[in-house]
Amino acid sequence: MLRTLINPPNDMTETSQAAERRTTPTVTVGKVQIGSCHPIVVQSMTNTDTADAKSTAKQVAELARAGSELVRITVNTPEAAAAVPEIQRRLDMMSCEVPLIGDFHYNGHQLLKQVPECATILAKYRINPGNVGFGRKKDDQFATIIELAMEHDKPVRIGVNWGSLDASLLARLMDENAALSKPRDAAVVMREALIRSALESAQQAEQLGMAHDRIILSCKVSDVQDLISVYRSLASRCDYPLHLGLTEAGMGSKGIVSSTAAMAVLLQEGIGDTVRISLTPEPDQARTDEVVVAQELLQSMGLRAFTPMVTACPGCGRTTSTFFQSLARDVQQYVRQRMPEWKLQFHGAENLSLAVMGCIVNGPGESRHADIGISLPGTGEAPSAPVFIDGEKAVTLRGESITEEFLGLIENYVETHYSPRFPDESR
Ligand code: SF4
Repeated sequence: MLRTLINPPNDMTETSQAAERRTTPTVTVGKVQIGSCHPIVVQSMTNTDTADAKSTAKQVAELARAGSELVRITVNTPEAAAAVPEIQRRLDMMSCEVPLIGDFHYNGHQLLKQVPECATILAKYRINPGNVGFGRKKDDQFATIIELAMEHDKPVRIGVNWGSLDASLLARLMDENAALSKPRDAAVVMREALIRSALESAQQAEQLGMAHDRIILSCKVSDVQDLISVYRSLASRCDYPLHLGLTEAGMGSKGIVSSTAAMAVLLQEGIGDTVRISLTPEPDQARTDEVVVAQELLQSMGLRAFTPMVTACPGCGRTTSTFFQSLARDVQQYVRQRMPEWKLQFHGAENLSLAVMGCIVNGPGESRHADIGISLPGTGEAPSAPVFIDGEKAVTLRGESITEEFLGLIENYVETHYSPRFPDESR
């Protein structure tokens, strides 16, 4: 089926069309549906000590408020597992309904058994086949987690990561490769091992009785081209919903660009049902930035709409001051901050388009394309800022309070152009 583009262009050509979406079953995680024709889901992960229920609940709520539709927490110790009920209690007090995902490595089979309340509360278990155990224990421990998931009626994500690839599987494939008359490149075998680890684990889970539509797969690597190659192959070999993410993407622009470069290619090809941007935050950076980047990736590709987008020019020698940069920032921050409330009050405010432009060269034209746009005065222009609403010049702003007046126009536009929601309406 075709992906639904938000605001598709009127003259949609073959090159502007979203790719046909891969057909998958729907996997239900709490109240969130993943795969099939459902919107691509934004995920995130906390970096607090899960045993610290207060800090973890606070960060989960922040991530959810930023727009994360699933939040994963590490469950690595008995203390972390024991904290899960308290985390959920605190989230309930904040009316935060986001499903919690448990990330298990090495001891998941023990923790889920030892703390049944943790097993009940978590909406999905993430299992890394490379970190379940070794030798014969591996199969037994994997089986225990799957049986516990079935007992508690939970879906699982079988999440392979090349930093913790199943060593015995890799050794087996390397041996098979070495026996070939023309052995393949080691990197090819490594990619195949990732895919086989996910597929064989999923098969094993189904043989244990897990339903086909209770399994999501991921195969994360840290190289852009490897990620594209691995997911293309994985997508062609199964119909499980896929979670996309470039692991260890890195900091700042490097992490954002690498993640976007890899995932945009796959999403455009119809591959990917959930996404996470694995940014390494700067010491003082908000964890929620990974959610913002994921949303902007999906929205800039026209796959979903989360918050009004601001088109702004980069500025050049024609800009007379940094005022237009401040205005673009203030507008972006304002709409992002207001969106949670608009979402409760109005239908479709997330589709609002805005433009903040630096001079007459492209300002009026770009502003006419937006729902509301402002063209600031450049070098040699009269000190006035025409505002365009729905393609028509509506008003000219001047003086010290341009920012406040423009934000007021945005607020008024939302109130007058989007139909109100009733309090009990589901969103
Ligand atoms: S719109 Fe004007 S100020 Fe902005 S980049 Fe273009 S020429 Fe420069």
